[in-house]
Amino acid sequence: MEYIQAHFDEYNRQYFGGALPTLPIKLSHARGFLGKVTFVKRRSWLFGPYKNENFVLRINVRIDLPEEVVQDTILHEMIHYYIAVNQWKDTSAHGKLFRAEMARINKEGNRHIRISYRLSSEK
Ligand SMILES: [Zn+2]
Repeated sequence: MEYIQAHFDEYNRQYFGGALPTLPIKLSHARGFLGKVTFVKRRSWLFGPYKNENFVLRINVRIDLPEEVVQDTILHEMIHYYIAVNQWKDTSAHGKLFRAEMARINKEGNRHIRISYRLSSEK
């Protein structure tokens, strides 16, 4: 748990200029995903714009994964969070924005973040 928080803080500084607000991090034992960022879309008035709120980062600890996969999963989810917290609209779940950020971080950090992992049906 502290391990995931520590990585979140480190990557936030290293790759996102510290721009990501802290959010609750929960460990999950559910099947079907390695990581997930959930949030709700809310509008503050009837015809107002939707705003993404109540973010939660979930990291799956059910399967014993190599450390690097866990780290890349955290980064993968942080990209989703980065896009959603900025209220950006991507072309799809892993669209142009997502892929651009993924490529940037993979290059800067010599990492191997991927769209999906064989073990998961993560979205
Ligand atoms: Zn994803």
